[in-house]
Amino acid sequence: MAHKALVEELRQIVGKANVLDSGVDMQLYQYDAYLEERRPDAVVFVNSTDEVAGVVKLCNKHGVPFVPRGGGTNLSGGTIPFKGGVVVEMIRMNRILEIDRPNLRARVQPGMFNLEFGNTLIPLGYQYLPDPASQKAATLGGNVAENSGGPHCFKYGVTTNHVMGLTVVLPDGQVAKIGGKAPDTPGYDLPGVFVGSEGTLGICTEAVVRIVRLAEGVKTLLANYDSIDEGSETVSAIVAAGMVPATLEMMDQLVIKAVEESIHCGFPLDCATVLIIEVDGLKDDLEIQTQAIVDLCKSHGAREVRVAKDDAERAALWAGRRGAFGAVARLAPSYLVCDGTVPRTALPKILRKVAEVGKKYNLQIPNVFHAGDGNLHPLILFDWRDAEQKARVMKAGMEILQLCVEMGGTISGEHGVGLEKIDAMRLVFTEADIRSQVLVKQAFDPRNLANPGKMFPLPEEVRRAA
Ligand SMILES: Cc1cc2nc3c(=O)[nH]c(=O)nc-3n(C[C@H](O)[C@H](O)[C@H](O)COP(=O)(O)OP(=O)(O)OC[C@H]3O[C@@H](n4cnc5c(N)ncnc54)[C@H](O)[C@@H]3O)c2cc1C
Repeated sequence: MAHKALVEELRQIVGKANVLDSGVDMQLYQYDAYLEERRPDAVVFVNSTDEVAGVVKLCNKHGVPFVPRGGGTNLSGGTIPFKGGVVVEMIRMNRILEIDRPNLRARVQPGMFNLEFGNTLIPLGYQYLPDPASQKAATLGGNVAENSGGPHCFKYGVTTNHVMGLTVVLPDGQVAKIGGKAPDTPGYDLPGVFVGSEGTLGICTEAVVRIVRLAEGVKTLLANYDSIDEGSETVSAIVAAGMVPATLEMMDQLVIKAVEESIHCGFPLDCATVLIIEVDGLKDDLEIQTQAIVDLCKSHGAREVRVAKDDAERAALWAGRRGAFGAVARLAPSYLVCDGTVPRTALPKILRKVAEVGKKYNLQIPNVFHAGDGNLHPLILFDWRDAEQKARVMKAGMEILQLCVEMGGTISGEHGVGLEKIDAMRLVFTEADIRSQVLVKQAFDPRNLANPGKMFPLPEEVRRAA
């Protein structure tokens, strides 16, 4: 369809001011937090389910691809318009529609930022648990589409464990409600299918999510170690002792240094690793849990264990952890965030291997990770202006994922497949496994218009022609 005619029809649906198509604007929407770029033909700001349905129907009528976009913070190229088409920007659908306290549910629009939602609940005595470190800028719709995790997901589960129902605009423009407030709905578990589908099955325009009461008390600990092995062994020891802290996060020396220099949150500069451990629950039990964890940290080699004495100190520790990716940007012009998982007992081994990969490819690789989940994030530093370096980085990243798989883990803990890990899918799935997922895609989206070219390793010529 001619570009001008498409833009004109889009303007009739959402209003003139809500459609962008200038070269400069398209440049702003050609990238996200991954390393690829591709220009869309138009960007549309939507305000309601009806508008989304109108836009998608139009795309379907003319065979134009569409790509939903929230905050654009995903790290796997999920919002890159691989085949061009229309970017559907959800950020203005950002209201809380209902907080249903007796049923512990909330109805929210997908463009709401995760942190803003959480901050609205806190004064009411409630919380929404999935908390990606990007929560200031990541939307709930993006969280749903990526099945995002976060520090508190070790104890409480990732996004899919907190999404009960969704309103979705299907790729032909029909509006469907899947799941709902009730704990179980008859038929297929379609919210389970949609969560983590990365915009390839349609667009979520409303979500029913689980909220919970705030814990009566919280304690946050910082444990410092002279070796990464001791820190990792503590993580396994805590879990083996039958304890499930709310968070078990870890950072290595390079990350600690970058964070401390940018955020000044009180991390010691001379240790090899720190663990940030948080326990929550009934006040009466907190002291017992905390002491047991302090003892385990010490018996596994911790040099010092500090318990945050007040909310300000606790907030500073979390600012350090949540600011880690940003702080690492001080170390190099670019970095690739790997997102593999291993059984948590394999952490010491995989971290040694990651260091070997760094040496082999002559690349610096700081590490920050959700240690409790065995979800590592090696950050491979480089300069994007150097094509040879970038090629080395991509090889190193793939090799790390391969190692994760060899150790019994997988290729993504939380950042999705997007464009980045299409080839890595073959490390964990057979052709038949992949085919079973493609069948789901084809059932929802027979014309392959919803975020095409993502997730599945189709033969390159088919993928490009699709
Ligand atoms: C500094 C930093 C820290 C991060 N930390 C974490 C972390 O701790 N845990 C974690 O899991 N991730 C993390 N991420 C990755 C990222 O923030 C998450 O994937 C997040 O959920 C993306 O949200 P978004 O609104 O930015 O989505 P986008 O990047 O805009 O979109 C992500 C995907 O969702 C699809 N999508 C967006 N909205 C919708 C919708 N309404 N309906 C259907 N599909 C939709 C898009 O098409 C795309 O495929 C981090 C990223 C950064 C930059």
